[in-house]
Amino acid sequence: MEIRSGKLSVRKRYGRRSGGGINHVRYDHKRRPTKIDVVCPSCEGLAIATDTEEAADSVFACDLDPSWKGTPFSVKCTECTYKKDGLDYFHIPKPFHEIYVYGERLWAWNLQHLDMIYCFLNDESIKGHAYASLQTYIHGKWKKGRLKFSKAISQHLLTHNLSFDTDAQVRRST
Ligand SMILES: [Zn+2]
Repeated sequence: MEIRSGKLSVRKRYGRRSGGGINHVRYDHKRRPTKIDVVCPSCEGLAIATDTEEAADSVFACDLDPSWKGTPFSVKCTECTYKKDGLDYFHIPKPFHEIYVYGERLWAWNLQHLDMIYCFLNDESIKGHAYASLQTYIHGKWKKGRLKFSKAISQHLLTHNLSFDTDAQVRRST
């Protein structure tokens, strides 16, 4: 799965703050959640890719973690019996939360991340949100079209019979 959204702007921002130097390499983001919602290759339903090398309670894996080079991902569908272990990050299926508005793509790692984006687009506070640190990745185009994207997110949830509240349940059952 290839996700480069927002990379440049983040690099610029950190580069300026740290004065350029070596630090920007560290922030040349390879940071990802330990649980990623992906499309099930078998039924196209919601499957969850879990980084099994990360502690169960850690939300993110950072660029220095060894699991980038290994094959720590286990993918399990929430809707059918599909299950596959031993995948590396680059071979997990495509993200489940991909939403298009006039050809512009909004995506999220998982429901919690989508929830943060949704709150942000609706001018709700994301202070203290587990994904607040990913606010820097929210595209200018998403912000510009915030109403349309916010509606499209609601529609996406409806279509797939998901809600931000059911997130915890889905995760417990996998
Ligand atoms: Zn499935």
